[in-house]
Formats: sequence, structure tokens, C-alpha cells
Amino acid sequence: MKDWRQPGLTLAEYEQLVPLDKTDIRMLLMFVTGKSRIQLITQGDTVPDAAQAESLQSLLERRIAGEPIAYLTGEREFFGLSFITTPAVLIPRPDTELLVELALEKGPPQARVLDLGTGSGAIAISIASHRPDWQVTAADISTAALEVARRNAHRILPTSALTLVESDWFRTIPAQRWDLIVSNPPYIVAGDPHLSQGDLRFEPLSALTDHGDGLSAYRTLTRDARTRLQAGGWLLMEHGYDQASAVRDLLDAEAYTEVQSWRDLAGIERVSGGRCPPD
Ligand code: GLN
Repeated sequence: MKDWRQPGLTLAEYEQLVPLDKTDIRMLLMFVTGKSRIQLITQGDTVPDAAQAESLQSLLERRIAGEPIAYLTGEREFFGLSFITTPAVLIPRPDTELLVELALEKGPPQARVLDLGTGSGAIAISIASHRPDWQVTAADISTAALEVARRNAHRILPTSALTLVESDWFRTIPAQRWDLIVSNPPYIVAGDPHLSQGDLRFEPLSALTDHGDGLSAYRTLTRDARTRLQAGGWLLMEHGYDQASAVRDLLDAEAYTEVQSWRDLAGIERVSGGRCPPD
């Protein structure tokens, strides 16, 4: 049997020999060779030179050991844009596109928008790229994450279209009223077995779990956004598949209006929100 650790193999041979999903093999081959999916399928030898074969081998081995594709290639597509993705940030998920769509729908003209716990900046930058007339601020407690968000803003947006702030939730957020506050906070319950499985093992724990019951971020957000939103401004939050009613209860307890949840493409209630009542 042929060894996959050598140059000159075809895509079909890689798919047959490497113990990984076909999509993973294709993504890494595209990354190493710079070829498109179509080129990989229609051309003969996929990795003609030895240097490429060597870097491909190391990437395939790291993938076999479990490292997420987005960290190996250093990027991930989200909302039609390509984001730099390092282990300092959560990998953008397709589920989160729902939050961006809702934000674009709910914000008034010239909206002032705040994204708390921005990570790679995927949410804030996607919003800003679609609404150049909005004033978008993205905050995170992690300096390393903010650096990734800054690089993504630089890569995707015109200069200074996004304001970045280092802040523990609202602590150092400028005292102004926002029209829209969005967040995809850490929501996995402490000790959830998923934290030690698959891609999640390699992602920053502080972006995944509150080390508690999974709801602590929503308590902070629903309470503190009350004094930070304009009356009628929306607070929109992503949450786990089984947290919608708990998050709606928190919004109801703080007297938000039009409290509701929205379903993602898998039919799961994934985002909940409400409008801020007057002070
Ligand atoms: N959506 C992620 C997951 O369950 C969790 C991200 C988060 O906690 N915000 O894989």
C-alpha cells in the first residue's frame, strides 16, 4: 500500500489513505497547494513538490491528533467573510450568523452597536461590513482575542470602522446609550463532557464556559444592559440549545419587552432577546 507521507499523490489517493474526513483532507490540500476544489478534483498529482508534501504531512498529523481545521489553516469563513482564527479565539460557528442577521434587522438607521465578548470580532465585523453607517464597538476581556479582532477589522473593514475596547463585560465600556447590544457569551455548563471532546478541547475555555451553571453571563448582560441601552433598544444574545427559556426568564425578570427566541437553521432556539424598557 502507498504511504500518504510522500509527494505525487492524487486527491483520491489521499482520501483513501489518510484516516480523516474527506472535507478535512480537501481543506488542508487546498490550503497547502493554493489550489481550488475544482483544480484538486481535475488535476493529477495534488502535491507535486517535497516542501508542500512535508507541510501537508505535518498538518494532516495535527488534524489526526484533533486540532481544529480553522486553527491549522488560520482562517474560517463566517457571514461570507474570511476571519483570521487563532487558538486565542473561539472558532466562528455558522449558528452565530443568526445573531448577525437579527442585529442587522433590529438596528435603527445610524445605530450605535456594542458586541460584548467579541473574540475574533466575527459578529461585530460582519455587522459593520454590512452597515457602514452604524457605529460599532467590540469589547473583550482578553487582550489576545482583541489583537485577533483588530487584525480581522484591518483585513475586512475600512480603517477605523470598528472601535475595540478591553473590558470585563460593561466595566470599562464608554458611558453612552447603545441602540443594540449583542453577545455570544461563554454558556457551556462547568464539567460538560463536550468541553473535553472534538474541536472544543483546543478552544479558549474562557470563551466556552462560565465555570458555573452556564447562565452567569446572561445574568450580567440582562441586568447591566438595562442602564446601557436606549429605551426600545434590543439586547440579543446567543445561547445553548437548552437555555432559551432560562434566558427569556432573565429578560422577563428585568422587564424587557417583546421577549422572544429565534431558531437557527437546525430548528433550535439559538438566540433570545428583548427591548429595553425606559429607566
Ligand atoms: N457554540 C459553542 C459550542 O457549543 C459554544 C460557544 C459559547 O459558549 N458561546 O460549541
